[in-house]
Amino acid sequence: MAIERSVLYVVATPIGNLADITYRAVQVLGAVDWILAEDTRRTRILLQHYGISGQLHAFHEHNEAELMPGVLERLRAGASVALVSDAGTPLVSDPGFTLVRAAREQDLPVIPIPGPSAAVCALSAAGLPSDRVLYLGFGPRTRAPRRTWLAGLAEESATLVVYESSHRILGMLEDAVEVLGAGRDAVIARELTKLHETFLCGTLGELRARLQADANQRKGEFVLLVRGKVSAPAGGAVDADQTLRALASELPPKQAARLTARIAGGSPKNWYRRLLELSSGPAD
Ligand code: SAM
Repeated sequence: MAIERSVLYVVATPIGNLADITYRAVQVLGAVDWILAEDTRRTRILLQHYGISGQLHAFHEHNEAELMPGVLERLRAGASVALVSDAGTPLVSDPGFTLVRAAREQDLPVIPIPGPSAAVCALSAAGLPSDRVLYLGFGPRTRAPRRTWLAGLAEESATLVVYESSHRILGMLEDAVEVLGAGRDAVIARELTKLHETFLCGTLGELRARLQADANQRKGEFVLLVRGKVSAPAGGAVDADQTLRALASELPPKQAARLTARIAGGSPKNWYRRLLELSSGPAD
């Protein structure tokens, strides 16, 4: 493959299954002068799999400031350089931003070689609304800041996409139930493209119970997707939430949701979800 000189290629690599790499990515990695990798051991496994013997250099958050001037100089001198991260797309909760920014500032061409990213992979199969999406990366690691962070997202109507580790997935779910309400729809996408790939779909409360009950479901890598806040359908002069609450105090929840839909408009399913929100968290 003809490779362009003085170009920084930002190359997406697999998030599990080594077959998930594009033909073009393999060509570029096989042809560039330098490959900058977050973890050279990990990238070497990928390169060996595809019979590529490229010049690998470690490039990560701890040495990027030190190495960057040299990388930019090589680019200016005509070298072609590929940037990869451990998995997925560089810069997506991964290193590379400073280098790409600096290359752009110096008018050096930056060419993306698209491919996997756990967020898009999860979104494509979760079955949650994908027209408006808020990618959040990793949330805070400890309880109090995480709850504050979640509270700031409570009114958001876009689908929330969060990266999480096995150590914190249960804590994240517990806090999400507390702050967003047990009734919110959510999906846990675990071990995408790998042997134990699993999608758990349900309400936040159901998912929390599922993970509490089964330690295996807490193993691996996770993308948590949470449906955005479903606004109460417009109800004209009637205060629809009040109607819903009043009916729910006398009737079973599904019947209350059905009647509210008849009175205020909207779908019974949405009103049922709204009722769960109203009864389980500070949704309004
Ligand atoms: N750059 C990567 C991308 O494009 O998705 C993300 C890197 S970030 C450091 C790693 C996080 O991505 C993991 O902690 C997990 O939340 C998510 N992730 C990566 N691979 C995954 C997979 N196979 N299944 C589920 N989540 C994954």
